[in-house]
Amino acid sequence: MIIDCHGHYTTEPAQLGLFRNQQLAALADSNRRPATTDLGITDDQIRVTIEGAQKKQQTERGTDLTIFSPRAAGMAHHVGPEWVSQEWTRMCNDLIYRVTELFPKNFIGVCQLPQSPGVSPANSVKELERCVTELGFVGCNLSPDPSGGYWKDPPMTDRYWYPIYEKMCELDVPAMIHVSSSCNPAAHATGAHYINGDTTAFMQFIQNGEKVFKDFPNLRLIIPHGGGAVPYHWGRYRGLAQDMKKPPIEEWLLPHVYFDTCVYHQPGINLLAEVIPVDNIMFASEMVGAVRGIDPKTGHNYDDTKKYVDKLKVSDADKKKIFETNVYKVYPRIKARMKKVGLA
Ligand SMILES: [Zn+2]
Repeated sequence: MIIDCHGHYTTEPAQLGLFRNQQLAALADSNRRPATTDLGITDDQIRVTIEGAQKKQQTERGTDLTIFSPRAAGMAHHVGPEWVSQEWTRMCNDLIYRVTELFPKNFIGVCQLPQSPGVSPANSVKELERCVTELGFVGCNLSPDPSGGYWKDPPMTDRYWYPIYEKMCELDVPAMIHVSSSCNPAAHATGAHYINGDTTAFMQFIQNGEKVFKDFPNLRLIIPHGGGAVPYHWGRYRGLAQDMKKPPIEEWLLPHVYFDTCVYHQPGINLLAEVIPVDNIMFASEMVGAVRGIDPKTGHNYDDTKKYVDKLKVSDADKKKIFETNVYKVYPRIKARMKKVGLA
């Protein structure tokens, strides 16, 4: 079983975008607010968008199951007041639920959260609970920067974030720390803002995470995109922690933080596996997502990350951890879901 822990519904039927446009038009004129949240998307339309893209790639690349969430750039928490984010988030999550019901053996859901700049993460608790207890989702995407590139909210180690951590621990679900689109023209979304988000969140936890992890011994976070700049600069981060008189980060931080394999070339994956313990690495491709082209050097899609992991010089047992078993540890609810759909 090969589980991809990071996939997005980036091929949604066009009606979702039309609804979003109407919703945003209503920001200027409340009379234009859509009268209904019924998108008019049929099951067949969902089937077509999945079968021609994510499911097709699973088959072609030899992966089995994807932990699936709404389009990350589409979360756009910075757009409009909180009600916009609440309504939009619910719709996006409901669409993921429909994918997981139509393709239960291929996709398991992870939700986006109705975050909004300056609004307490406590207001996201209800949606997380709905998605996990009613829709069978196994985790959430948590943005460290709902302002979309301006970092207006407190660092993730602030008590400000505690209500969502409390609910995550109560439900026993992890969060992938995942920013959304950038509204700062200085930061390209997937090339700069994503990697900044990953790196910045990790550094916040080095600075002040000890208390958070003491308060939430069961808190589990995934830093996507291969951990941003972290693995490449591992010596810098260990050294900074040491300068700050922290115990070695391997002891108190790594038990809570995991890295995915969304690094789109072989030397990058090799470095990840050399620097970060295999117990902290989970297979992911983020398909269909940030980089869609074919690498002329290899002839394969950049985001066909299974090929890189296959070539890692680690034991088969370690590869199994990366491809499958680490996921059970980080997303414990996945086992029950797999059993329910006949996968385990
Ligand atoms: Zn992503």
